[in-house]
Amino acid sequence: MNEETRTFGYLCPECGKPVTAARDFFTLAAADAAIACECGGSVLRTSYDGKRYRISVPCGLCGGVHTASCAPERMLRGATALACPKTGQFSCFIGDAGTVERQMKELAVLAEKERQDDGGGAFLDNVVMYEVLSELKDIASRPDGITCRCGSGRWKTRVRRAAVDLICADCGGRLRVPAATDRDLDDLCCHMKLVIPGAAPR
Ligand SMILES: [Zn+2]
Ligand SMILES: [Zn+2]
Ligand SMILES: [Zn+2]
Repeated sequence: MNEETRTFGYLCPECGKPVTAARDFFTLAAADAAIACECGGSVLRTSYDGKRYRISVPCGLCGGVHTASCAPERMLRGATALACPKTGQFSCFIGDAGTVERQMKELAVLAEKERQDDGGGAFLDNVVMYEVLSELKDIASRPDGITCRCGSGRWKTRVRRAAVDLICADCGGRLRVPAATDRDLDDLCCHMKLVIPGAAPR
């Protein structure tokens, strides 16, 4: 086993395929690394400033891009997972090839399941979903309770198995509100207002 390389894995938000690639320690320290999906739709990037690694990873779960800053110990040893702040699920894995490939398989299954469950079917947790929907209704009833960064106040909801998507009726921007656990509900209740981030610039 070669210990001197790290494998990176993420799910491409454009085509939905798992992307994995290895980079050796030398490359990671010496230059910025870029790992692109073969579809050309997304790129994971790392950079190193001599103290910390900065990683920007396209997220196959929420469609956004997340950045993380990791100390070299975390980046180069053992296995690390980076969580998507919107869905609370791990969306990027860094570690040895075997671990990353195994995790990526599970992630691909999870994302596929979400896609299939889109529209109809049982909710992951009926009580939480019900509470999240009624909380959303409360937020929406406040003046400017739910708006989009593009300036629109018109939006529609799309109920999924473990989340509710708020979609801007004007620009198509999307905010995913997780609705799987009690914690999701607590998180939502902290918000007096919600802002849809607006359509991703292309
Ligand atoms: Zn792709
Ligand atoms: Zn995400
Ligand atoms: Zn909008």
